Parts: sequence; C-alpha cells; structure tokens
Amino acid sequence: MPRPTKCRRVQYPPDYLTFKPAGVPARQLHEIELTLDEFEAIRLADLEELYHEEAARKMNVSRQTFGNILSSAHKKIADMLVHGKALSLQGGNISLKNERLFLCKDCNNRWSEPLGTGRPRHCQSCRGENISRIK
Ligand SMILES: [Zn+2]
Repeated sequence: MPRPTKCRRVQYPPDYLTFKPAGVPARQLHEIELTLDEFEAIRLADLEELYHEEAARKMNVSRQTFGNILSSAHKKIADMLVHGKALSLQGGNISLKNERLFLCKDCNNRWSEPLGTGRPRHCQSCRGENISRIK
C-alpha cells in the first residue's frame, strides 16, 4: 500500500503562475512545472533566508524532505534559465487557501483576490495604489 504523502503547508501562494522568456511564442517552448511546495521552499529558504530546519517546520515536513524539495526546485529553475524554458506553477502536495488578502494603506480597506489572477493595481474601494499583500 502506498504511503500517503503528508500535506505540505504553503503560506504564501504565488501572484503569477506562468513565466517564459520574452519574445518567444509559448508553443515553441518546453515547459517546466514547478510545484507550489517547491515555490514555497524557494520563498522560505532563498528569499526569507530561513534555516532549513525552521523552513521545514513552517511547511510541516522533515528537514530532509525540505532539502529534497528545495534542491528539486533549484534544479528546475536552473534548467529554465539556462535552457530558456517556460515555467508554470502548479500542483504539489499542498494545503492552501485559494485566496490572497490585500490591504490598502490609504483607506484601510481589506479585500481578497482569488489565486492566480495577478496582483491588483489599486484598492477596490478608493482606487489608491498604496496597497500591500498581507497574506
Ligand atoms: Zn483604499
């Protein structure tokens, strides 16, 4: 019987789900799939610069598993950069709320946007552009 894989926690889903080299039609490109747990591993280790142990705890996986996820992610990104491939973010064994939360610093309005729709340009209430993502 296959061992059920534990759900990996992803705290901060991506704003953008596809990337590709500029000026090349998508159909001419090979596409790499970066899973959302790989994305989260990169965010925690490379951007927030957490120690692997702490990042693993945040994702609810062992340190060893975290290392494996991270090196798989690095390899895919290197492949994309070096060979000029497209990258799409999808899948992975994750638990995730399918929305992101934004805050307007001008009028204090908070609202949520579904995952994968890009970053909003302005506040839904006052149309101000002084917004930030809070979740
Ligand atoms: Zn506002």
